[in-house]
Amino acid sequence: MKHPTYLWWNGELRRWEDATIHVTELGWSTVGAVFEGIRAYAAADGGDLSVFRLREHLERLERSMRLVRLKLDYSLDDLTEAILDLLHANGTREDTYIRPLAYTADTSGKRFAQLGNTAALLINTAPMPSHLLSGETGTAKISSWRRISEDVMPPRIKNLSNYRNGQLANFEAHLDGYDTALLLNRQGTVAEGPGSCVMMVVGGALITPDVGSSILESITRDALLTLAREELGIPVVERPIDRTELYVADEVFTCGTAAEISPIVSVDKYQIGSGEIGPITRRLERVFVDVLRGGESRYAHWRTPVPTVATASV
Ligand code: PMP
Repeated sequence: MKHPTYLWWNGELRRWEDATIHVTELGWSTVGAVFEGIRAYAAADGGDLSVFRLREHLERLERSMRLVRLKLDYSLDDLTEAILDLLHANGTREDTYIRPLAYTADTSGKRFAQLGNTAALLINTAPMPSHLLSGETGTAKISSWRRISEDVMPPRIKNLSNYRNGQLANFEAHLDGYDTALLLNRQGTVAEGPGSCVMMVVGGALITPDVGSSILESITRDALLTLAREELGIPVVERPIDRTELYVADEVFTCGTAAEISPIVSVDKYQIGSGEIGPITRRLERVFVDVLRGGESRYAHWRTPVPTVATASV
């Protein structure tokens, strides 16, 4: 399998094949794991790579760790440097996914009830080409699984165990012939997709479930709301959304670091709009690409350039 030369593990760059653990570490060690999903994009002119909203992702990692009572032994500046070093060491030039994973080390035989476990921290990367402006569309099914709610698991963070919920929903949707699932929350209003947030356009306004709707506090969602308001000049609304509002919406799409903007052309076999990518979705995709790939100088603060000269390793 092709993979980058290095990953970052517990404070140092390690060769990929040397980063191994004993098989008995598998299992409970990941029950309490939290992670991040971050993207780096190549510049439009084929120039340098930059990481999108790195600080916000690291801040969310810190919140995730705090919530599951894992101690973070590095500063966010250390982690920024670690990620930039890693991308540099791997000579990364193409669009890439970066995944920091914090998990409990030394849990073998201790089950999961142990407080004060040592957190191990792994950062690995993998090429992930963008599908923005590709014209790809998808169909969605409202899942019979409900999105986890605040009184069961914390939806707002990237808690690895949360993802069984979305996985079950996606299995169901795929077996039923749809591309993705959308989950309702305990209140019966729309929450999000298995690994993405959901937005709809109605009467020229961009509407998305509020953060109290059992959603992840998504960084892409925040970016797109900002861009819609600031760059497209359209109203944005965060509020609970009824399932049937999606059925009759003008446009629907999901969004996230991996999902980017993924247009949805039918929900439960109700055709959305004209059954093609809608005009506001298209405009948003164009602006978003500009921001990600550096064509838009106003959002330079959202991009951390990957240095061509290595910084010191932590
Ligand atoms: N919801 C879930 C459940 C997710 O896994 C993701 C992807 N991280 C998102 C929403 C989108 O979040 P972000 O834009 O921060 O990637």
